[in-house]
This record gives sequence, C-alpha cells and structure tokens, in this order.
Amino acid sequence: MASIDSLQTRRTLVVGRTKYVYYSLKQAEQAGLAGIARLPVSMKVLLENLLRNEDGVGTSEVDLKAVAAWVENRGSVQHEISFRPARVLMQDFTGVPAVVDLAAMRDAMTALGGDPEKINPLNPVDLVIDHSVMVDHFGTPKSFGDNVAREYERNIERYRFLRWGSSAFNNFRVVPPGTGICHQVNLEYLAQTVWTAADAGHPEHDVAYPDTVVGTDSHTTMVNGLSVLGWGVGGIEAEAAMLGQAIPMLIPEVIGFRLTGSMPEGATATDLVLTVTQMLRKKGVVGKFVEFFGAGLANLTIEDQATIANMAPEYGATCGFFPISQSTIDYLKATGRETARVNLVEAYAKEQGLWHDPEGEEPVFSDVLELDLASVLPSLAGPKRPQDRVLLTDAAAAFEEALAGDFGKKESADVRVPVQGEKFDVGHGDVVIAAITSCTNTSNPSVLIAAGLLAKNAVAKGLKVKPWVKTSLAPGSQVVTDYLIKAGLQKSLDALGFNLVGYGCTTCIGNSGPLPDAISAAVNEGDLVACSVLSGNRNFEGRVNQDVRANYLASPPLVVAYALAGSMRIDLATQPLGQDKKGKDVFLKDIWPTNADIAALQKKSVTSAMFAARYGDVFAGDANWQAIEIKGGKTYAWDMGSTYVQNPPYFQGMTMTPDPVTDIIEARILGVFGDSITTDHISPAGSIKKTSPAGEYLLERQVRFEDFNGYGSRRGNHEVMMRGTFANIRIRNRITPDIEGGVTKHFPSGEVMSIYDAAMRYQAEGRPAVVFAGKEYGTGSSRDWAAKGAKLLGVRAVIAETFERIHRSNLVGMGVLPLQFTSEGWQRLGLTGEEIVSIRGLQDLSPRKQLIVELYRPTDGRIARFPVRCRIDTPTELEYFKNGGVLNYVLRNLAKTEA
Ligand code: SF4
Repeated sequence: MASIDSLQTRRTLVVGRTKYVYYSLKQAEQAGLAGIARLPVSMKVLLENLLRNEDGVGTSEVDLKAVAAWVENRGSVQHEISFRPARVLMQDFTGVPAVVDLAAMRDAMTALGGDPEKINPLNPVDLVIDHSVMVDHFGTPKSFGDNVAREYERNIERYRFLRWGSSAFNNFRVVPPGTGICHQVNLEYLAQTVWTAADAGHPEHDVAYPDTVVGTDSHTTMVNGLSVLGWGVGGIEAEAAMLGQAIPMLIPEVIGFRLTGSMPEGATATDLVLTVTQMLRKKGVVGKFVEFFGAGLANLTIEDQATIANMAPEYGATCGFFPISQSTIDYLKATGRETARVNLVEAYAKEQGLWHDPEGEEPVFSDVLELDLASVLPSLAGPKRPQDRVLLTDAAAAFEEALAGDFGKKESADVRVPVQGEKFDVGHGDVVIAAITSCTNTSNPSVLIAAGLLAKNAVAKGLKVKPWVKTSLAPGSQVVTDYLIKAGLQKSLDALGFNLVGYGCTTCIGNSGPLPDAISAAVNEGDLVACSVLSGNRNFEGRVNQDVRANYLASPPLVVAYALAGSMRIDLATQPLGQDKKGKDVFLKDIWPTNADIAALQKKSVTSAMFAARYGDVFAGDANWQAIEIKGGKTYAWDMGSTYVQNPPYFQGMTMTPDPVTDIIEARILGVFGDSITTDHISPAGSIKKTSPAGEYLLERQVRFEDFNGYGSRRGNHEVMMRGTFANIRIRNRITPDIEGGVTKHFPSGEVMSIYDAAMRYQAEGRPAVVFAGKEYGTGSSRDWAAKGAKLLGVRAVIAETFERIHRSNLVGMGVLPLQFTSEGWQRLGLTGEEIVSIRGLQDLSPRKQLIVELYRPTDGRIARFPVRCRIDTPTELEYFKNGGVLNYVLRNLAKTEA
C-alpha cells in the first residue's frame, strides 16, 4: 500500500543514471518533526519505516510525532508503533514449522471456502538450511562428506517438504543444506543495507529504503553489524510478518555504546564481544536497542561489528546496531555486491543522515556506556553463561573454584577414569570437545586466520591435540574454506584434527554429535565435569552435549589452544601446551600469531571473487538437493506416516467468527519453575531420550533410536514437539523437587509422571492447565515451540515474575495468557501443585489489565488470592489473543477479503 505521506516527504534521489524515490528524513524535520537529525541512527531507520508505511490507521502522524518526541523523552514514554521489516530470514529448525503452518493455512483457507493461493509470503522470505548437520564424523578428510550424507538420510522428509514450499509459495527462497549458516549468508550475500522495491502506487521508479529484517533465529541481530536493523522474533511473529502483518513494538530506549581506541596485541573480536556482553548484562539492556558509535568504530571491521551485533541476545538487547560508514562500503565491495547497490548505499546514507561521522555531533541516547578497545584482554566465558567472562589468565583458577563450588566435586577433584581400549584416562576439567563453530566467529576471517596460524605454528613445533578431544571446524560459509586453503592454513588445521565437518551450526546449537563411546562411558562412570571449548555464543548447561557440563566460549585460536592443552585446569599463561620435537616446553605465547601477521594474511587471502563464485548459484544446491523430487501442488500432500512433518491442529473446526474468551476455571498446575527457565528447558533442541514421551512416540512408529535426530529437526511434527515440551533433562519442577527432568505430579491422584502424560490426563478430565515460573521465563533462543507446545498441552496461562520479550509475545501469538506477578513471586505461596487455580475477568480483557488469581487448596480448604498483570501489552496483541492466536487472526482476515 502506498504511504499517505501526510508530511509530504517523498523525494527522488539520483545515483549514477538511476532515479529512486525515498521518504526524506530532512523533509520530515522541515515539516514539523523538530530535532530528528539528532536521533540515534537506529531510531531514524524506524522513523523512515513509519513515513513509508503511513496508512492513517496502523501508522499515523501521531506515531511520527511520538518518534520525534524521542529526542526529548529518550524512550521513557511508552508508545506502540507498527514496524514493517523489508524481509524475513529463517533457518530450518524454526523455518520448517513456519512453512508447515503456511501449508496448514492453505488447507484451512480451502475449508473456509477461500482460495488457498491467497496464502503466500507477502514479504520476501529466505530460509537457510543450516541447523541440521551434526558432527557424527570428525577428524578425517572424509568427515564433511560423511556428515552431509548422514544429514540427508536423517532429514529427507523435511527437505522434500521444503523443496515443495520453495516451488509452491511466491516470495520464498531456500538456501540448500551444506551452503552456510543463515546469519553469515545474510551478512555475506542476502543483506543489501539499502533495499529497493517497486513503490506501490508509483510505478515509475523503485523506492529505496533501509534494509531491515526479522528472523526466526535470535542471532538475526548479527546483520546489525552491516547496518541492517533487525532482530529475532518468534516463529509466530515471523509468520505474521511474512503474511504482511506489521510487528507491533514499543518505541525502545537506545543505549549508546561509545567505542574509542584500538584493539591491543593478542586480543580478538571474540574477546571484545565477551567484554561488551559482560558490560551490557551488568547495565541491563533487555528490551532496548544498543547503538555503537565513536572514533573506535574506524578501528573495527564489519566482521568485528557483526561479531558484536551477533551476541545481542546474550547481552539482552533487542539489537546492537552499527551505523553505515566507510567500512560498510568497503565490506559491500569486498563481498562482491553490485556496484550500483554500493553506490546507492553511500548516497542514500549520506542523504538521510544514516552515515557515521565520528567528527560530527553525537546523537542523543537514553544512556551511554564507553569502552576503550585498548583495554580488551583475552577472555573466555563460562562455565554456564555467556556473560560470565573470565580472563584467560584466571581461567584455570576459576574452573577449580567452579569444580569445588558449583559442581560440588571438591572431594573427587583429582579422580581419573581409565578410557577403555586406550592408553589414557580422563578427569574433571578435561576438554572433550573443541569446536570452531558458530556464525558469531566464523564470519570473521581475522579469528579464523588466527586459528589457522596458531595451528600452523603448533604443527611446526610438533604439538598434538590430546587424544580425548573431539575437534571440529564448521564454518558458516564456503568462502571460509576458500580463504583458509589460499592462505595455506587448512592443512595445518587438518593436521590437528580440525577438518571440515560441515557448513552449518553444529556444536553451537548442540549438534556436536556423540562423544566416542569409550570417552562417554568414562565421563559417565566418573560423573566427571567434562568441558567443551567452542567459538559459539551460548553455553547453557545441557546445550552443547549431554556428557559435557562445563562449556566455555572462546575465540577460534583459543579453541585450538585448549585442544592442544586438553584441560581447562592448565593455566595457558604459565603452563606449557606440550613439548616440541626436542622435548622443550611450548607455551601459548610461543605460537600465538601477531595482529600484523593475521591482518597481512587476511588481506592476501580473502578476495571478492571468492564471494562472487560461491554465491553465484547459492539456491541451486548440490546433487543431493537437486535429486529431491517435488510433490504436491497448491496444497501439500501430507504424508500421514511422516514422523517429521505433520498437519498441525491449530485451525481444526475454525469458523469465521472466534468464540468469546472464557475465564480460566479450576485449572491444574502443570509445573512450578524457578528463575531463568530458558526456551531450551521448555522446548529442548537437543537429542531425544529413548524413554521420553517423544522417544516412545518415535519407537512406536518404528523409528530406530539411532535415527531419532534432535528435537530441532522434528519441529515440523507437533506430535513430537508437544511430547518434548518441558522435557529437558535438566529442568526442575518444584512440584517434584527431587527429580531432574520433565516430570510432574498428577492431582488428585498424586501419581508422578511425565509432564506430557499429566497434561493429556488433565485434557481428558476437561481441566485447563497453568504454569508458574520465576524471573526471565523463556529466556534464550527464540523458539516458537516453547509457546506452541504449551498451547497443545492445554496451558491457558503462564504466571511468572518476568518474561523474556520474544517468548511473552509468542505466548500471546498462540493464545496463551502471560500473567506477571505484581509483587512477590510464587515462592511465598507455598505451592505444592495440588492447588486448583481460577482466573476471572477474561471476557473484558484489556492490555496490561490487573487480574486476580485464586488458589484453592483441597487438602485444607484454604483459598488464597493474589494480583497479576495481564502481559498482553497492546491492542493488536489483544486481537490476536481473542482470535486464538495470530495465525487464526490473519487467516480470518484473509478469508474475509476473499469473500
Ligand atoms: S551458528 Fe549458532 S548462533 Fe549462528 S545460527 Fe547457528 S545456532 Fe545460531
């Protein structure tokens, strides 16, 4: 729809011989939005979005003025706006269920009497298949090929479905498996910084506007390093954005982060991002934008910026944005973007005031933090949280402390367990996984070349990786292989076992594959605190590997160093990594490359021709992909026997008018959880236990245990996912305090059973269910199944002390009511799980309405009442809720326009 452009800001911009139209921020200022030149750049991007999409209904002059008022109120005034991203990015774990829902909507549209082809993404969508490769094979030249073959064997049903999706839907492209990681492919190829499209109502010229994106992966934030404003949303919101719905959001606070100075010798971009993460966590930036500025930007590359932007979920911000600068232009050229586009980016940014000028007047911010890059020191983060940074020099001592404290192994600290069939033993602190993984770092040639140079120096000294370490290299694009080979470094990495295992997410998402049997057995026999060192961004317990309890995030060169050392208990600053061929001790400093060596080799080895060649036919895929036969037409031919893709029940029996919302009466409590319950706890992404409800479901369908695959890859099958909800082996339900894992007590029987089984019993009894939780409920990766699973288990409300931003919105998007304690949490209520819960006043619900929760305890007849705040935050969210979820809302609207 064309903007009504009430401020008459539409102008033309000529770049070379091409004319574009654009919505001018300068003109908007002259037309009355005083002071907007001093807005943070990220806020200017939001303002342009509103100018271009002003329709007088969802977006009006009131919203434009509210953004302009930010210069004075700095985000302290709550005002909802409708954000319309230029495009949507998906990975396959979260993307498959989104496409499943689209396919189900086509069926539902048919059932409502409409045209199924009404259901199409209205915004461009790119889905990158990157989350399914596992490190089954490692340490040999055949590892990559063997892992790819296994990946296709495991995932062919899903890939067949996605092949159908790419042919059935308009505006939907799929990057096939084995190509790269979504955020790195986005950074290196998909993102354009300034986007162009046909201008509705004005066919003469394309309209140019800032590239913006939402993605179904929380690290979508990475592309903010290339000045593309974007963040992760739940699969549910992403589906709404695909279907042309605006994303409602509150105008955020923007924390300015001034960078000065330059990085010292020996420190890497990884060290920098761990430092930034720790600072911002301490500051508290949840729900806020962070925008980087200052003279230090000139000393960072776009890849460094992308590394910092990637970890926004870890520092808690919505995004970590960098303005457009000369580095942006250099990067776009270096990665082979078209000259016309590069010229447009520069001209548009300068015209619109989006260009970073370190000499110019600083924008105003809600608050400002500062870091001198020269103060950054080599660091790791762990053993359980990305914000728990520890200096490399303190890492060994910190591990000892954690071993005795957190892990309770003071008495057995020095126990060693023999490894069957080998001549070595393993003990606490031994590094059993060393993984160069994750788009966070593999998009940054400087740290990969540093890892390669360190490997080269180690090999020259005759050092070897310890035999208990599972080593892997999983870059986020094929370009990495090209430059590592050109630099002559891949062979050194190979010599240390860091052979290519795949172009995908691997260890970062928990696809680290099993440890060798004998090592796994020894770790379990000794109940050892085994360690991983990975260049990823998350290290929650249970995420990386079931056998590994302490996980450390570190730069790729430190990953190699710890593989050589083989233990977190070795102080790399003072103790040797091993001995050279003459038996002389070799220390980390002896093999650490200099910043100058890294930069020189990077300059020689990374070429724009590599990007052009690798991305030239990025959607074509390999022979495996091309061999997949496409079946189905406008609607998908569901295979009832598939254990990967099933038609979900969200639209069953749906009518054009939603039923009125009813009160929650006499609900049972399915779970009572503590603080920081992550979406990994609620909807695990890792392996499926044989004895779990999901495992039993698969076994009943003749799926062999070795073919179970992880939960993440089975997200297209609601039957598996609802059985996996609250099934993390580490979750603790206070109703059954002595048992770890997804277990609860059914009432009134008092029987202990899986949460899934209890939920099914309650559904059969006609009882709704509720869940209680502590602070930061739903923190971690955006995960639509954490909300969808709860919905299918019959959970009508989650009552928590605080919610993570995306998860709260996902709950609403699935028609589950998020309620927030207004004072203390559940602890003071003395919950046992037997209480019966009623919540009234839902018929006339309004955003942020206060409600009263009533608890009745049958054993003593006690009734307690306490107030909660309804965390449906906006009128649009309320509409979603009343319709039973956002998909039902969109479907009804589309069906109506059809009639
Ligand atoms: S590598 Fe890690 S951060 Fe990047 S997309 Fe994959 S799982 Fe997410």
